[in-house]
Amino acid sequence: HELKTPLFTVQGYLLTLSDGAINDKLIRDKYLQRANIGLERLVSIVEDLDMINQLESGSLNLSLKQFDVVKLIKSVFELLEFQAKKRNITLQLDKPYDIPLIVKGDKKRIEQVVINLIENSIKYGKTTSKTMVSIKNFTETQLIVDIEDEGEGIPEHNLSRIFERFYRVEQSRSREQGGSGLGLSIVKHIIEAHHQKVFARSELGKGSIFSFTLEKFK
Ligand code: ADP
Repeated sequence: HELKTPLFTVQGYLLTLSDGAINDKLIRDKYLQRANIGLERLVSIVEDLDMINQLESGSLNLSLKQFDVVKLIKSVFELLEFQAKKRNITLQLDKPYDIPLIVKGDKKRIEQVVINLIENSIKYGKTTSKTMVSIKNFTETQLIVDIEDEGEGIPEHNLSRIFERFYRVEQSRSREQGGSGLGLSIVKHIIEAHHQKVFARSELGKGSIFSFTLEKFK
Protein backbone atom coordinates (compact mmCIF):
# COMPACT_ATOMS: atom_id res chain seq x y z
CA HIS A 1 0.00 0.00 0.00
CA GLU A 2 2.75 2.45 0.94
CA LEU A 3 4.48 1.93 -2.39
CA LYS A 4 1.26 1.68 -4.37
CA THR A 5 0.00 5.15 -3.48
CA PRO A 6 2.93 7.08 -4.99
CA LEU A 7 3.25 4.54 -7.82
CA PHE A 8 -0.35 5.02 -8.89
CA THR A 9 0.02 8.78 -8.49
CA VAL A 10 2.90 8.82 -10.94
CA GLN A 11 1.11 6.41 -13.27
CA GLY A 12 -2.06 8.50 -13.15
CA TYR A 13 -0.29 11.72 -14.12
CA LEU A 14 1.66 10.05 -16.90
CA LEU A 15 -1.47 8.42 -18.33
CA THR A 16 -3.38 11.71 -18.24
CA LEU A 17 -0.48 13.39 -19.98
CA SER A 18 -0.37 10.81 -22.76
CA ASP A 19 -4.15 11.08 -23.08
CA GLY A 20 -3.75 14.65 -24.31
CA ALA A 21 -2.96 16.80 -21.28
CA ILE A 22 0.56 17.08 -22.65
CA ASN A 23 -0.69 19.59 -25.23
CA ASP A 24 -1.57 22.19 -22.59
CA LYS A 25 1.65 23.74 -21.37
CA LEU A 26 0.35 24.76 -17.93
CA ILE A 27 -1.21 21.39 -17.19
CA ARG A 28 1.80 19.59 -18.59
CA ASP A 29 4.19 21.41 -16.28
CA LYS A 30 1.97 20.89 -13.26
CA TYR A 31 1.48 17.16 -13.89
CA LEU A 32 5.15 16.58 -14.61
CA GLN A 33 6.03 18.30 -11.36
CA ARG A 34 3.55 16.18 -9.42
CA ALA A 35 4.75 12.98 -11.06
CA ASN A 36 8.25 13.98 -10.07
CA ILE A 37 7.26 14.51 -6.44
CA GLY A 38 5.67 11.04 -6.46
CA LEU A 39 8.88 9.59 -7.86
CA GLU A 40 11.00 11.32 -5.23
CA ARG A 41 8.80 9.78 -2.54
CA LEU A 42 9.20 6.36 -4.08
CA VAL A 43 12.96 6.75 -4.19
CA SER A 44 13.12 7.78 -0.53
CA ILE A 45 10.90 4.86 0.55
CA VAL A 46 12.99 2.39 -1.44
CA GLU A 47 16.19 3.84 0.06
CA ASP A 48 14.75 3.53 3.58
CA LEU A 49 13.64 -0.06 2.92
CA ASP A 50 17.06 -0.85 1.56
CA MET A 51 18.70 0.48 4.70
CA ILE A 52 16.32 -1.57 6.90
CA ASN A 53 17.10 -4.70 4.88
CA GLN A 54 20.83 -4.12 5.25
CA LEU A 55 20.43 -3.54 8.98
CA GLU A 56 18.30 -6.69 9.34
CA SER A 57 20.58 -8.92 7.34
CA GLY A 58 23.61 -7.63 9.20
CA SER A 59 25.27 -6.60 5.95
CA LEU A 60 25.46 -3.01 7.02
CA ASN A 61 28.61 -2.97 9.06
CA LEU A 62 28.85 -0.39 11.78
CA SER A 63 32.00 1.63 11.89
CA LEU A 64 32.51 2.12 15.63
CA LYS A 65 34.54 5.15 16.57
CA GLN A 66 34.62 7.67 19.39
CA PHE A 67 32.85 10.97 18.88
CA ASP A 68 31.37 13.87 20.84
CA VAL A 69 27.61 13.46 21.02
CA VAL A 70 27.12 17.10 22.09
CA LYS A 71 28.80 18.32 18.92
CA LEU A 72 26.74 15.91 16.84
CA ILE A 73 23.46 17.16 18.32
CA LYS A 74 24.47 20.81 17.83
CA SER A 75 25.27 20.11 14.18
CA VAL A 76 21.88 18.41 13.64
CA PHE A 77 20.23 21.50 15.20
CA GLU A 78 21.96 23.63 12.57
CA LEU A 79 20.93 21.24 9.81
CA LEU A 80 17.26 21.29 10.83
CA GLU A 81 17.01 24.90 11.98
CA PHE A 82 15.36 26.08 8.78
CA GLN A 83 12.81 23.26 8.83
CA ALA A 84 12.03 24.01 12.48
CA LYS A 85 11.68 27.73 11.83
CA LYS A 86 8.96 27.08 9.27
CA ARG A 87 6.82 25.76 12.12
CA ASN A 88 8.23 28.28 14.58
CA ILE A 89 9.76 25.55 16.69
CA THR A 90 12.99 26.21 18.59
CA LEU A 91 15.56 23.46 18.98
CA GLN A 92 17.41 23.67 22.26
CA LEU A 93 19.59 21.83 24.71
CA ASP A 94 18.51 21.85 28.38
CA LYS A 95 21.94 23.26 29.35
CA PRO A 96 25.08 24.52 27.58
CA TYR A 97 27.10 21.24 27.62
CA ASP A 98 30.42 23.03 27.41
CA ILE A 99 32.35 19.82 27.97
CA PRO A 100 32.38 17.15 25.23
CA LEU A 101 30.59 13.88 25.99
CA ILE A 102 32.48 11.16 24.18
CA VAL A 103 30.64 8.02 23.14
CA LYS A 104 31.45 4.99 21.04
CA GLY A 105 29.31 4.30 17.99
CA ASP A 106 28.84 4.70 14.28
CA LYS A 107 28.68 8.48 14.02
CA LYS A 108 26.89 8.60 10.64
CA ARG A 109 24.21 6.14 11.80
CA ILE A 110 23.72 7.84 15.17
CA GLU A 111 23.40 11.13 13.30
CA GLN A 112 20.63 9.51 11.24
CA VAL A 113 18.89 8.53 14.50
CA VAL A 114 19.12 12.07 15.88
CA ILE A 115 17.92 13.57 12.57
CA ASN A 116 14.92 11.22 12.39
CA LEU A 117 13.88 11.92 15.99
CA ILE A 118 14.32 15.69 15.78
CA GLU A 119 12.55 15.80 12.41
CA ASN A 120 9.63 13.95 13.98
CA SER A 121 9.57 16.42 16.86
CA ILE A 122 9.27 19.18 14.25
CA LYS A 123 6.65 17.38 12.15
CA TYR A 124 4.51 16.40 15.12
CA GLY A 125 5.31 19.31 17.43
CA LYS A 126 2.84 22.17 17.87
CA THR A 127 3.58 25.25 15.84
CA THR A 128 5.35 27.77 18.07
CA SER A 129 6.79 25.34 20.56
CA LYS A 130 10.15 23.86 21.45
CA THR A 131 12.09 20.65 21.11
CA MET A 132 14.32 20.07 24.09
CA VAL A 133 17.26 17.68 24.02
CA SER A 134 19.06 16.54 27.14
CA ILE A 135 21.94 14.13 27.72
CA LYS A 136 22.31 12.39 31.06
CA ASN A 137 24.15 9.53 32.67
CA PHE A 138 22.06 6.39 32.39
CA THR A 139 24.33 3.73 33.86
CA GLU A 140 28.01 3.74 34.66
CA THR A 141 28.76 2.81 31.06
CA GLN A 142 25.87 4.45 29.20
CA LEU A 143 24.47 7.90 28.45
CA ILE A 144 20.83 8.56 27.62
CA VAL A 145 19.65 11.17 25.11
CA ASP A 146 16.09 12.49 25.55
CA ILE A 147 14.31 14.34 22.74
CA GLU A 148 11.21 16.00 24.08
CA ASP A 149 8.58 17.76 21.99
CA GLU A 150 5.44 19.74 22.73
CA GLY A 151 3.27 18.02 20.17
CA GLU A 152 0.02 16.16 19.84
CA GLY A 153 1.38 13.16 21.76
CA ILE A 154 0.79 9.49 21.02
CA PRO A 155 -2.10 7.47 22.44
CA GLU A 156 -1.00 4.75 24.88
CA HIS A 157 -2.25 1.90 22.67
CA ASN A 158 -0.20 3.12 19.69
CA LEU A 159 3.00 3.67 21.65
CA SER A 160 4.15 0.06 21.54
CA ARG A 161 3.71 -0.12 17.77
CA ILE A 162 5.24 3.11 16.45
CA PHE A 163 8.65 1.47 15.91
CA GLU A 164 7.15 -1.03 13.46
CA ARG A 165 7.78 -0.37 9.82
CA PHE A 166 5.03 1.58 8.04
CA TYR A 167 3.12 2.05 11.30
CA ARG A 168 1.57 5.48 11.66
CA VAL A 169 -0.80 6.71 14.31
CA GLU A 170 -4.26 7.13 12.83
CA GLN A 171 -4.93 10.72 11.80
CA SER A 172 -1.37 11.70 12.49
CA ARG A 173 0.15 14.59 10.56
CA SER A 174 2.23 11.97 8.80
CA ARG A 175 -0.66 11.15 6.47
CA GLU A 176 -1.07 14.80 5.45
CA GLN A 177 2.68 15.14 5.06
CA GLY A 178 3.15 11.83 3.30
CA GLY A 179 5.60 10.41 5.85
CA SER A 180 6.67 6.88 4.97
CA GLY A 181 6.32 5.43 8.44
CA LEU A 182 9.85 4.02 8.24
CA GLY A 183 11.84 6.59 10.24
CA LEU A 184 11.34 5.08 13.69
CA SER A 185 11.89 1.57 12.39
CA ILE A 186 15.29 2.68 11.11
CA VAL A 187 16.02 4.36 14.46
CA LYS A 188 15.25 1.15 16.35
CA HIS A 189 17.37 -0.98 14.02
CA ILE A 190 20.37 1.32 14.29
CA ILE A 191 20.20 1.59 18.07
CA GLU A 192 19.72 -2.16 18.52
CA ALA A 193 22.64 -2.85 16.18
CA HIS A 194 24.66 -0.84 18.75
CA HIS A 195 23.22 -3.12 21.51
CA GLN A 196 21.54 -0.07 22.99
CA LYS A 197 17.94 0.78 23.85
CA VAL A 198 15.35 3.16 22.43
CA PHE A 199 11.91 3.90 23.84
CA ALA A 200 9.13 6.46 23.80
CA ARG A 201 6.90 8.01 26.41
CA SER A 202 4.05 10.36 25.71
CA GLU A 203 1.22 12.33 27.19
CA LEU A 204 -1.67 13.11 24.88
CA GLY A 205 -1.97 16.79 24.11
CA LYS A 206 1.29 17.55 25.95
CA GLY A 207 4.02 15.91 23.93
CA SER A 208 6.35 12.98 23.58
CA ILE A 209 9.82 12.01 24.75
CA PHE A 210 11.96 9.70 22.64
CA SER A 211 15.05 8.32 24.40
CA PHE A 212 18.00 6.25 23.33
CA THR A 213 21.13 5.10 25.11
CA LEU A 214 24.74 5.22 23.93
CA GLU A 215 27.90 3.56 25.13
CA LYS A 216 30.28 5.94 26.87
CA PHE A 217 33.83 5.90 25.62
CA LYS A 218 36.30 5.12 28.39
P1 ADP B 1 6.68 8.96 9.60
O1 ADP B 1 6.96 10.15 10.44
O2 ADP B 1 7.36 8.97 8.29
O3 ADP B 1 5.20 8.66 9.48
P2 ADP B 1 8.00 7.39 11.70
O4 ADP B 1 8.39 5.94 11.69
O5 ADP B 1 9.07 8.38 11.92
O6 ADP B 1 7.26 7.65 10.34
O7 ADP B 1 6.89 7.58 12.81
C1 ADP B 1 5.82 6.64 12.90
C2 ADP B 1 4.59 7.32 13.46
O8 ADP B 1 4.77 7.59 14.85
C3 ADP B 1 4.26 8.66 12.80
O9 ADP B 1 3.49 8.49 11.64
C4 ADP B 1 3.47 9.36 13.89
O10 ADP B 1 2.13 8.92 13.86
C5 ADP B 1 4.11 8.81 15.18
N1 ADP B 1 5.12 9.74 15.74
C6 ADP B 1 6.46 9.68 15.56
N2 ADP B 1 7.10 10.65 16.24
C7 ADP B 1 6.15 11.36 16.87
C8 ADP B 1 6.16 12.49 17.76
N3 ADP B 1 7.30 13.10 18.12
N4 ADP B 1 4.96 12.94 18.20
C9 ADP B 1 3.80 12.33 17.86
N5 ADP B 1 3.73 11.26 17.04
C10 ADP B 1 4.88 10.77 16.55
